[in-house]
Amino acid sequence: MKESVARFWREIPQRYNIIGNKCTVCGRVFFPPRESCPYCRRKSLGKMQKIQLSGKGKIVTYTIIHSATEDFEDQVPYPIAIVELDEGPRITAQIVDCKPEDVKIDMRVESTFRKIRQDGSTGAIYYGYKFRPMR
Ligand SMILES: [Zn+2]
Repeated sequence: MKESVARFWREIPQRYNIIGNKCTVCGRVFFPPRESCPYCRRKSLGKMQKIQLSGKGKIVTYTIIHSATEDFEDQVPYPIAIVELDEGPRITAQIVDCKPEDVKIDMRVESTFRKIRQDGSTGAIYYGYKFRPMR
C-alpha cells in the first residue's frame, strides 16, 4: 500500500498543471478560477472557460521569510514571491532551487510540483506548486 502511494507521486509530471479560467467576454484570466468575471459581472456568467496556465511568469515582488511555523522551520530563510503569470493572474508562492539572495524582481520563473509539508503525526505529505528560476 505504502509503495503504491510513493509510485503514484513519482509518476506525476514534474511541471504541475495550474488550472485557471478565462472570461470569454473580456479575455481576462483568473487564478484561482472564479465563477464570474469581476469586470463583466453578470455578462460573464456561464462564459468562464477553464484553461491550463503555462506556469511561467516573473517575480513582481518578494520577501524573505526568516521565522516560520514548526512545519516550515527546517526551510528558513526562504523567499516567498508574488509571481505574475504570463497569462496575467498573480500567485503567491515559495521560490525554490536558488539562494534567497539570488531572487530578483522581474526574474523569470516557472512552476514546479513539490512537497509542501509533511504532517509529523500521520506522516501524510502535502504537495503543491512552487516556483523556480527559469533556465
Ligand atoms: Zn470579463
